[in-house]
Amino acid sequence: MRTLHGRKYLVLGLLAAAQAGAQDLGPWPQHSMDRPKAPIIDPGPPPSDAIVLFNGHDLSNWRNADSADKPALWKVENGYIEVAPHTGNIATKQVFGDCQLHIEWATPAKVEGEGQERGNSGVFMAGKYEIQVLDSYDNPTYADGQAASMFGQYPPLVNASRKPGEWQTYDVIWHGPRFDANGKLTRPARITVFHNGVLVQDNVTLSGPTAFKKRPPYTNDPVKMPLALQDHEFPVRFRNIWIRELAN
Ligand code: MG
Repeated sequence: MRTLHGRKYLVLGLLAAAQAGAQDLGPWPQHSMDRPKAPIIDPGPPPSDAIVLFNGHDLSNWRNADSADKPALWKVENGYIEVAPHTGNIATKQVFGDCQLHIEWATPAKVEGEGQERGNSGVFMAGKYEIQVLDSYDNPTYADGQAASMFGQYPPLVNASRKPGEWQTYDVIWHGPRFDANGKLTRPARITVFHNGVLVQDNVTLSGPTAFKKRPPYTNDPVKMPLALQDHEFPVRFRNIWIRELAN
């Protein structure tokens, strides 16, 4: 029985790995020359197999987040996008499932406000799950709302913030939620985030979409959703945005 159980769990484990889009050992003997080789890419940056979401010149890959018919109205200058306060969140026209994301951001050099009211923006994976963007350099706020937090859920492991006005990076590995034919959650979303090259979210499991002062349950969304950026009414800047789709 014990062996049978062991096998059962091994099979379940392999299935789970396959469902997560992760690598698995596959049927090949170790060191087999027949095993498919990794595709050759130019590592860049950006990597040659990445989809560049902002080319430094225009917002042609973006739209208003609330309405696919409305254009993104944020400012573009000197190779970056800047939030135009009160014009709304923006979202990519293209939709994405599991992915690797690189994005650079800078909060205003001129320090104004405090807590959540200083350089607030956000990167919404699948349009709903916010990696907080905030000036968290010498600016206390609640831990699950500082820069690089999964807003309302997970504080970052460390505060790796640079000074206001300096460019900062997020590198993200995203595995979105999955649902069965009845809309029941079969796999919650997981995310890994590096802030300025430092691990800050270590494969955390999300409780559901981001919300303020509540943790709502998952909703049965398509596997592929837009990436969105937050207009929190502060002139935060973004540049060098690229994404690599993973097996979905
Ligand atoms: Mg925010």
